[in-house]
Amino acid sequence: MIKYDYLIVGSGLFGATFAYRANQAGKKCLVIDKRPHLGGNVYCERIADINVHKYGAHIFHTSNKQVWDFVNSLVEFNRYTNCPVANYKGKLYNLPFNMNTFYQMWGVQTPDAALAKIEEQRRNVLNDLQGREPANLEEQALSLVGRDIYEKLIKGYTEKQWGRKCTELPAFIIKRLPIRLVFDNNYFNDKYQGVPIGGYNKLIEALLCGSEVKTDLDFFDKTSPYNSGNWRDVANRLVYTGPIDEFYDYVYGKLEYRTVRFETELLNEANHQGNAVVNYTEGSVPFTRVIEHKHFEMFGPEVYENPRTVISREYSEEYRDGMEPYYPINNERNNSIAEKYRSRSMSECDIVFGGRLAEYKYYDMAPVIEKVLNLDV
Ligand code: FAD
Ligand code: UDP
Repeated sequence: MIKYDYLIVGSGLFGATFAYRANQAGKKCLVIDKRPHLGGNVYCERIADINVHKYGAHIFHTSNKQVWDFVNSLVEFNRYTNCPVANYKGKLYNLPFNMNTFYQMWGVQTPDAALAKIEEQRRNVLNDLQGREPANLEEQALSLVGRDIYEKLIKGYTEKQWGRKCTELPAFIIKRLPIRLVFDNNYFNDKYQGVPIGGYNKLIEALLCGSEVKTDLDFFDKTSPYNSGNWRDVANRLVYTGPIDEFYDYVYGKLEYRTVRFETELLNEANHQGNAVVNYTEGSVPFTRVIEHKHFEMFGPEVYENPRTVISREYSEEYRDGMEPYYPINNERNNSIAEKYRSRSMSECDIVFGGRLAEYKYYDMAPVIEKVLNLDV
């Protein structure tokens, strides 16, 4: 007997937001997830009274008022503003590149002096290029910001992140490198940003309120009562947020990803690095960033109310079977394979494919929610 209007595979932001909307429309939903918890990549694990972003640091940011009002109607957001710091050979620089960075790099104190310095650095590179277009990421970055910023803040970080030399990466990855001639360390340009008070699990709980949920259930496990072979016996429609290549049994080939390995440590000190995000931009340091989770939710003196802290070192790695797929690698090979899966998925009239894995697309959280808010449920 058909029991549900929707079987939703995946309890991440796409699946959970879809479930919320379907519920509001009076539909009955079952949400399953193969992980032992709900929330997908925004899930937080509580360690020593600190919400630890288990699948990587998540900062909500958007300029879309509809999305911001929607999430705030479910949970209150705090005042967290992302101001990452870069550590290069033990010296600290503010990000994104702004007047603080230029002062730290060159001692310049005015926007005109900073601009003159950047122009001088770019001129040398443009002379070397002798009028031809930048052929790779290194040439592109050098021609946009010059050698000092490239070598200290971009080269090592980017090579660690992608596992390839900047000279082997395509130029189009960094079409733009914003330069701010103001003393402003806010990483995002969006109107609204923050972290849910009490953590992302609160947002997920609110979204899934009213839906039936089951964890530890893999849609492709034939022994599961709700699997890819029998789902039409239990639900009228399917919402699928897992990897699209897996859905079609990899008939057009496997899509590639970069993944991140997290080395998480509980420390007996109240404040380890004084900031949520510190990037290590030097090539010889094996990790890309160190996240200190308490700073997402504790500010000023609150930091010292908890005598302990949790940090995660992030190592960017090549994806292999069994790892978490994180960042799609949108090169020609993968894009063309993904396109084949996508066109096939268009012909499925009772299945919605959505989210970062089913669309093979890097999505921030707000655009995922925006997409679901604009769907017919
Ligand atoms: P997911 O959260 O991945 O959810 C998919 C779910 O489907 C998972 O729970 C998975 O277990 C489940 N699933 C898959 N296959 C099956 C199956 N066969 N059976 C059952 N369940 C299945 N965005 C921001 O806006 N700000 C940030 O700061 C930010 N930081 C990020 C940092 C990292 C390291 C990464 C990787 C992403 C970051 N994002 C950030 C993006 C954000 O994580 C995504 O936009 C969001 O999580 C997408 O939600 P989703 O539902 O599409 O996918
Ligand atoms: N980047 C860099 N140095 C830094 C931070 C970022 O060179 O300290 C570059 C790098 O090429 C990276 C890109 O900017 O791939 C985007 O980084 P960001 O952290 O903004 O994005 P995310 O990793 O969250 O996609």
